[in-house]
Amino acid sequence: MALKGNRTLDILRKAEDEGYGILAQSCYDAHSVIGLVRAAERCRSPAVVNLFPITLAYGKGPFLQFCLNAAHQASVPIAVNLDHATDPEHLELALSLAEQGIAFDSIMVDASHADTDEENIVLARPYVQRAEKCGIAVEVELGRLEGGEAGLRMISDAKLTNPDKAETFMKGTGALVLAPSIGNLHGSYINPPNFRQDILKDLQSKFKGKIPLCLHGTDELPDNLFVECIKNGVSKINVNSWGRDPYAKQLAIGLQTKSFPEAVEEATEVFASVCERFMKLFGSAGKA
Ligand SMILES: [Zn+2]
Repeated sequence: MALKGNRTLDILRKAEDEGYGILAQSCYDAHSVIGLVRAAERCRSPAVVNLFPITLAYGKGPFLQFCLNAAHQASVPIAVNLDHATDPEHLELALSLAEQGIAFDSIMVDASHADTDEENIVLARPYVQRAEKCGIAVEVELGRLEGGEAGLRMISDAKLTNPDKAETFMKGTGALVLAPSIGNLHGSYINPPNFRQDILKDLQSKFKGKIPLCLHGTDELPDNLFVECIKNGVSKINVNSWGRDPYAKQLAIGLQTKSFPEAVEEATEVFASVCERFMKLFGSAGKA
């Protein structure tokens, strides 16, 4: 198997085999990383620390090293993933840090803005090859999600994933994790989410045991939709605002009246409790 011993792939493959999902929670600072690790250890759950490129660009090597230490020294398996790396400068930063020994476990090389699959492959492949040399697994997006998140470009012309093209696409890029576009979108859902479960099932039958699937665009989703997506083959679930917003709110309120460490402690616990809820919902609690 390619990239033997890769932490992200090991976590996702076990989840896929045993039919549960893995919380990949966006962390914007050290407090949230600590909150996620606490939640994972309490629940005995594997997890993924998700960083956006804007957070990597802010904290660079020292912050990434902190995240790796916090994740890898935990008593349960936790990987560190770079989400939505699109800009060459962010990819260069992540890969040059890896070449200096500060390596993400996985990165998403997001060339979904490309006009065609072929163009997406041409953009992604050199990064995939360079990442693989450092032992980093790469996630790619086939099709295109609408919307936007922290520091990411805003997309308004979504394209659904065509399962018939997925195997060629994954071979072409050389990537090992797939983020499909099934009607999911980044940010707020204007209409209730209408996910194409048939696309997921099709991808599951093609890729089970080979390429783990990652669900993006999970703001505001009802619990039963998370569960349905896991049943239909998703093993990595990216979560952003669910944890971020209550954490930021609690911190802002706490700082009005409490000491800084007290306010941070309370906000960290709010973040951790959101993470724990998802670990239980996704079925990963007790699996580590
Ligand atoms: Zn995403």
